[in-house]
Amino acid sequence: MRISKKCQAVQGSITLAIDAKAKQLKAEGKDVVSFGAGEPDFQTPQYIVDGAIKALNEGKTKYTAAAGTPELRKAICEYTKRNIGTEYEFTQVVVSNGAKQAILNALQAILNPGDEVIIFSPYWVSYPEMVKMADGVPIFVETIEKDSFRIDFDALNKAINEKTVAIILNTPSNPTGAVVPECDVRKIAQIAKEHDLMIISDEIYDALLYDGEKHFSITQIDEDTKERTILINGMSKAFAMTGWRIGYSISNKEIAKMIANYQSHATSNPNTIAQHATLCAITNENTDFEKMFNEFDRRRKYMVETINNIKGLSVHMPKGAFYAMVSIEGTIGKKYNGKVINGSMDFAENLLEATLTAVVPGVAFGADKHIRLSYATSMENIEKGLSRIKDFAEGLE
Ligand SMILES: *Cc1c(COP(=O)(O)O)cnc(C)c1O
Repeated sequence: MRISKKCQAVQGSITLAIDAKAKQLKAEGKDVVSFGAGEPDFQTPQYIVDGAIKALNEGKTKYTAAAGTPELRKAICEYTKRNIGTEYEFTQVVVSNGAKQAILNALQAILNPGDEVIIFSPYWVSYPEMVKMADGVPIFVETIEKDSFRIDFDALNKAINEKTVAIILNTPSNPTGAVVPECDVRKIAQIAKEHDLMIISDEIYDALLYDGEKHFSITQIDEDTKERTILINGMSKAFAMTGWRIGYSISNKEIAKMIANYQSHATSNPNTIAQHATLCAITNENTDFEKMFNEFDRRRKYMVETINNIKGLSVHMPKGAFYAMVSIEGTIGKKYNGKVINGSMDFAENLLEATLTAVVPGVAFGADKHIRLSYATSMENIEKGLSRIKDFAEGLE
């Protein structure tokens, strides 16, 4: 069989095995509770759906410019200015099939074979694989729970060498929910300047910050930092639009042009109807947001409090996004049914088998002593699932 070395090097989703098993059990009619969701459990707000229907009825069903309609790209500039204060021209915006494609495009635009990209772990599952898909080499800099997942600047400086070309920053973070404080964002900008590095700033959770935390975008710092940053955002999380597949990158004009060229040959424009729905989404007030946000916040607090009362588990309070990164350190080495729990995969597999509760093993994010629980699921599911997790964790021998 002829398979490229590049594709062979790309790891299939580690979480797929668990997810497939959970789905199979569900299909068998079993009462499965899943904490795996990486998407809001809320419907897309009706005014956005109506915007899509209107576009359809008006016959807006043809190709657009590969980078998206100028109208939408202009609206994204205004939306970005409103949200984070940074000003861009519409030619700097490329609209893609989700933030995911926007990130891959960005990496394709800036990497040469062997170039190194710094990724903070725990990381979003796709970053390392995307770097490899773009012929780069992912270099990991660990952040640890004890330090509230703050960036270790000594470790970062040690990881940088002449092959380093970029740093991926994700705040608020999936999976940890950590928010990088402004002072650390500024330090990263300084380091990027010193070593002439690009920054890919994935700010897809910028609207989901709790406890009065404020989002600080690295693009706000100064003109130099703005020029070397590729800002990533999208509609999936804050607008509950995962299935619509609209995300975007904003970068300096040369890179934006490269990204648009690349995308024009790879996929052409993202779905035209979804572009019109997005235009409607960001040029009107998202009246459903507050309800969704308050519900996430309520679940977040309940989840953290409940988990910290389970023996063997602990979790820090996530400040953003909709995930709790739970330490299972207190269960490592214990046994379920005679089988030793050596890491997050053992924990997740046995938990699913024993209690029909699905969680994402932290090994998928480079954190094998953790599991990730999403609170983008109903309070009823959370109560039921956490009570099962308690029975499981406290029943280990
Ligand atoms: C969900 C997510 C994305 C991608 O979302 P799209 O649906 O492709 O827009 C990108 N980065 C992070 C950190 C995410 O959690």
